[in-house]
Amino acid sequence: MSEHATSSKTQKHPYPDAKGRYGDFGGRYVPETLMPALQELEKAFETAQEDPVFQETLRHYEATYVGRPTPLFFAERFTEHLGGAKVYFKREDLAHTGAHKINNALGQVLLAKKMGKKRIIAETGAGQHGVATATAASLLGLECEVYMGTADMERQKLNVFRMRLLGTKVIPVSSGSKTLKDAINEALRDWVTNVGETHYVLGTVHGPHPYPLICREFQRIIGREARRQIMEQEGRLPDTLIACVGGGSNSIGLFFEFLEDKDVKMIGVEAGGTAIEPEKHAARFAGGSPGMLQGAMSYVLQDADGQIQATHSVSAGLDYASVGPEHAYLRAVGRISYEYAMDGEALDAFQLVSRLEGIIPALESSHALAHAVKIVPSMDPSEVVIVNMSGRGDKDVDQAARLLLPEEDWA
Ligand SMILES: *Cc1c(COP(=O)(O)O)cnc(C)c1O
Repeated sequence: MSEHATSSKTQKHPYPDAKGRYGDFGGRYVPETLMPALQELEKAFETAQEDPVFQETLRHYEATYVGRPTPLFFAERFTEHLGGAKVYFKREDLAHTGAHKINNALGQVLLAKKMGKKRIIAETGAGQHGVATATAASLLGLECEVYMGTADMERQKLNVFRMRLLGTKVIPVSSGSKTLKDAINEALRDWVTNVGETHYVLGTVHGPHPYPLICREFQRIIGREARRQIMEQEGRLPDTLIACVGGGSNSIGLFFEFLEDKDVKMIGVEAGGTAIEPEKHAARFAGGSPGMLQGAMSYVLQDADGQIQATHSVSAGLDYASVGPEHAYLRAVGRISYEYAMDGEALDAFQLVSRLEGIIPALESSHALAHAVKIVPSMDPSEVVIVNMSGRGDKDVDQAARLLLPEEDWA
């Protein structure tokens, strides 16, 4: 039996319930026209979870294409520098396309193929999810179209070109703020119209049920591997896990396998931006309140009238007004704590880890590393911390150079 095939059976958690709710959060708040598609997807996913051929195929591509298992690396110089607990990095930056997003994109495109769909659509903000989806669609020979706001296309030209190289059609969205939330609206409109032949690949553990569940299950491989690897390398479980939280997929992917281990502390790190004031950050738990966005109930940055607020983060992947519902639940029950790191702290960690370990982390992952910089020095040397290195920072060096170098040195 593959790890995946046994996973749903060993599921000890009473959530999500039959309505896709995680306590008070989650659910399926969508137009009636989308209900049949979501129900079809839910059934297909349940079948795939129990299907040894599907699981075997997924494992085959994870091993031979994505490059799994990704290593668990002891960051010796970073550890020495901080002078506290031992710090390990889970190297999702070494996965194909340079981040954890491929785990979910590959799983969903494989599922779409099993469902007999001919066409894949997705939305993308910074372009990372679009690239991962375009990659999986190319691998499995499905037609792919990605919706992207024109403001984001301008900022992320290289990812637009990457997707086009991979054979994907990038559809510009020039309505509203011309960014991610407008691209999501257009992708949903497309899905309603073409649902018979089309699967919509949602990029994180958000959206209407069953998306948060599907994405979590495809990302659980991170924690499953990390658990086995830390047992091999340290002979015991870690004391603390740290991961950045945008929508919440890399963090729940690492955390989920340890939820039952009450002695393992877990910390999700959101984007504090430049200040915890309206429109200057994306720390939903620090500055938000319960509300609905993207078809699910969760924490949302909104004003007194329930209007969604603008957000800011140096890192595009964390720059979103809401967070996955399972995180809202795990925070409410006190299992996971959520902190935030400011833009400047993330940029400092970005440089520190580059210099000490020869690993340029994604600016998203740099938020998790910034939190490690804060807490590890006061921990005991006998303690063990795992930080999820959700992605590599090659995509961010241009932006970092503009922020860190005086203009005359930047050419
Ligand atoms: C997209 C992205 C994130 C944030 O998304 P989650 O769903 O919270 O994981 C984090 N790190 C990297 C490298 C990303 O590309």
